[in-house]
Amino acid sequence: RELTVELGERSYPIYIGQGILAQITALFDRAKLSRKSPLLIVTDESVAALHLERVLSLLQAGGYAATACVVPAGETSKSLAQLEGIVTAALQAGLDRSSAIVALGGGVVGDLAGFAAASFMRGIRFVQIPTTILAHDSSVGGKVAVNHPMAKNIIGAFHQPELVLFDIDLLLTLPPRDVKAGLSEVIKHGLIWDAAFTQWCDENAAKLLALDPEALSYALYIGCEVKAKVVSQDERENDLRAILNLGHTIGHALEAVAGYGELLHGEAIAIGMVGAAKLAQQFGYSEEIHTVTKRIFEKFGLPVTIPPHLDTDEIMSAMMHDKKFKEGTMVYIIPTEIGKVEIRKDVTAVQVRQIVDMLKGES
Ligand code: NAD
Ligand code: ZN
Repeated sequence: RELTVELGERSYPIYIGQGILAQITALFDRAKLSRKSPLLIVTDESVAALHLERVLSLLQAGGYAATACVVPAGETSKSLAQLEGIVTAALQAGLDRSSAIVALGGGVVGDLAGFAAASFMRGIRFVQIPTTILAHDSSVGGKVAVNHPMAKNIIGAFHQPELVLFDIDLLLTLPPRDVKAGLSEVIKHGLIWDAAFTQWCDENAAKLLALDPEALSYALYIGCEVKAKVVSQDERENDLRAILNLGHTIGHALEAVAGYGELLHGEAIAIGMVGAAKLAQQFGYSEEIHTVTKRIFEKFGLPVTIPPHLDTDEIMSAMMHDKKFKEGTMVYIIPTEIGKVEIRKDVTAVQVRQIVDMLKGES
């Protein structure tokens, strides 16, 4: 399957399929990547152990000069220290303005390598080879960043890749917990945009959790398509793109309070989406939105309540620090029916606190 992210002269293709890694050099040729300039593959230790050798040998066999820079696995690698390490590797490998950085990994590697590509020599090209389900989201849209100890994703840029190569076979080694967490963002794309796809996910939960290649490539295709459509209409998040943040206001706060890694991103936003559906009820929308949302996430084995040991005050103050909070009210994405959301700017901290209490109470 193939689709295009329409962004004028920065448009790029997304290829999704089983076994398509074998075509890597043909796809690189199509994107007009240079064989004369060295490529730098950025990956993490876990992915390197599983998939790096194959990628390197395919590229070398196709006449591309590639070296690799391996960072530790996990969110803490999205740091300025690791960025410096990549720049060192890039200089040692002799990368020039026609070179490209290839991100082979999940969202951590994609964000880190993408930011390195955006800043090295004021911007060189880059390629996304996502290896997690969650990365269907992070690899599309051009947001790249590293974290600061005080705030996530606070040092970043917009930098679109040349192509995204999504081989379903690479996902087969994923731990079950990352499978579920990744599917959380897939379901989100249904909830914000496409009621029929939400229903399809509901009906195909077992296949998706078992990594059935047909079901998975369809789900990733639709997920990427929704993201691509939203990003095409609003690349720099002036308005529409904010809808992608469904579940993220509470979700980001939970990740920050729990400590990164304890609650995975996809888990945190599943709880946040259930909360947003409950908030919708307070604004007069159907109770069914909450019932359906909660049922789907439960079906996928994702959490729908806040772990009781997380402190409500801490969750609230983490939200206040969030970029989305302005002048006493929050910008909040709430569902108005399954497959549709609205951007509200009048949600108060008191209302959100009630939701947080509710999400803790049911646990
Ligand atoms: P991740 O990259 O840390 O991957 C999760 C874990 O799975 C890691 O330990 C990794 O080593 C391992 N792994 C990756 N691929 C594997 C494979 N094929 N087999 C076995 N293990 C594998 O995390 P993630 O969940 O992919 O991404 C989370 C990050 O994405 C966060 O930093 C988040 O901020 C970012 N993100 C960015 C955007 C964006 O628009 N840029 C959107 C959503 C999320
Ligand atoms: Zn997200």
